[in-house]
Amino acid sequence: MSGFVDEAQLHARAGDGGAGSVSFRREAHVARGGPDGGDGGRGGDVWLVADPNQASLLGFKDHPFRRASNGAHGSGKRRHGHRGADLVVPVPVGTVVRDHGGAVLCDLSHPKDRWLAAEGGQGGRGNARFLANARRAPAFSEQGERGEERWLNLELKLTADIALVGFPNAGKSTLISVISSARPKIADYPFTTLEPHLGVVRVGAPGDETELVVADVPGLVEGAADGRGLGHRFLRHVERARALVLLVDLAPATGAPVAEQIAVLLGELGRYEPRLLERPRIVVGSKADAVPEGGRARTSLDLVISAVTGEGVAELVHRMASIVADARAGGALPRALGSEGRVHEDASFELEDVVPGAGAVVEHRPAPEGLGVERTGPHAWRLFGRQAQRAVNLSDLTDDGALAEAVRRLRRLGTDRALARAGAHDGDEVTVGLLSFTWFRDQPVEHADGGDELGAGDRRRRRGTRR
Ligand code: GDP
Ligand code: MG
Repeated sequence: MSGFVDEAQLHARAGDGGAGSVSFRREAHVARGGPDGGDGGRGGDVWLVADPNQASLLGFKDHPFRRASNGAHGSGKRRHGHRGADLVVPVPVGTVVRDHGGAVLCDLSHPKDRWLAAEGGQGGRGNARFLANARRAPAFSEQGERGEERWLNLELKLTADIALVGFPNAGKSTLISVISSARPKIADYPFTTLEPHLGVVRVGAPGDETELVVADVPGLVEGAADGRGLGHRFLRHVERARALVLLVDLAPATGAPVAEQIAVLLGELGRYEPRLLERPRIVVGSKADAVPEGGRARTSLDLVISAVTGEGVAELVHRMASIVADARAGGALPRALGSEGRVHEDASFELEDVVPGAGAVVEHRPAPEGLGVERTGPHAWRLFGRQAQRAVNLSDLTDDGALAEAVRRLRRLGTDRALARAGAHDGDEVTVGLLSFTWFRDQPVEHADGGDELGAGDRRRRRGTRR
């Protein structure tokens, strides 16, 4: 069943972190209360999770933008802002995620596999965190960091949940066009459908929908099991479907007697692969509108429908959905049944022998980015990487105290060593995000919790421009 690839684009936007608060204690009996501004909450992440109830990427065509909530701002009395809620985006099992360049970022091949698509921004720290011996009244806090956002390309190799099986002209293409968002060609001659078509059917109330993929396959003709007509290409398609719908033509002008049609269809399936006869199936009479009263015996049919008047169609969809739900709850996708001696052109059959629940759930996270150094000119350097960005982005660089803190954070990341190793010299210009400063190597690194205000070296650094 190669060649059925569903594609969609997704814009994932994580929540922004809340800002830290600047606040001081105010109490009747406390003359000069200390800083008590709380931290901002982290922004929510956007996660993609493989969900067996999703069968296609259709939902992303309607709603490509998915965003998680922002963290709340901190406030006085050391009240921290709430975390932004994560957004969990269900995608079909088997979804492959690529970046815009086409590189594969992850492959959500098992139920419950999850992947962090966009990471929420860190909350800014409140001024209570910046209290130090030499800084009794820090009048600054950090901004919240912006959440990550990016476009992703999603790709899914579709697998049919239901295969429609019937003779040419039984009404398969018409039915699928009525129940799904697919629009296959419909015409009044055999083999209109030279390729199987897939339709995606959505069942259930919005928010609680399941999707079924229904395959409209080329007509089955007698002898298909021997490779006659479109033969094996069609039957291979049926192999992996969770359930079969046999469509029997009731219109007097075209169809053979009902019992005969059923016998031939089942005979062909069974000759190709006896286990196909054990698949759940629904035997449906089509074109009920074209049948005169009492025209045809319907005894061996589960259901009678008309794609033209809509009779029985809702009931059919309902039954298909419940069979598929049962099959999904039962776990594994049907295995490709191919036995020895039969050639399968499509190697994906083996790949898809999925056993949900077996083994650990795979959780994909992007690799953390630390610190990078890049030369941008003879005496100019740029620091990049998430951590370096964070050190400066969260700070309000117009505030001296905050600026000093940003520089301290950078140095704690090991920027001095990294710059020296990259070949930087004293007096070179270094840029990180919006901050530029002149670099001197010989400064001692202050301690993480050191409360000292800027040392001489830092003062020199601060001469740097603020853009
Ligand atoms: P397929 O070969 O099984 O895909 O059959 P199609 O969907 O192409 O339909 C074959 C012919 O049957 C077309 O002319 C359709 O218009 C007609 N047809 C399909 N469904 C119905 C139906 O419910 N009622 C009537 N009267 N005609 C139908
Ligand atoms: Mg057709």
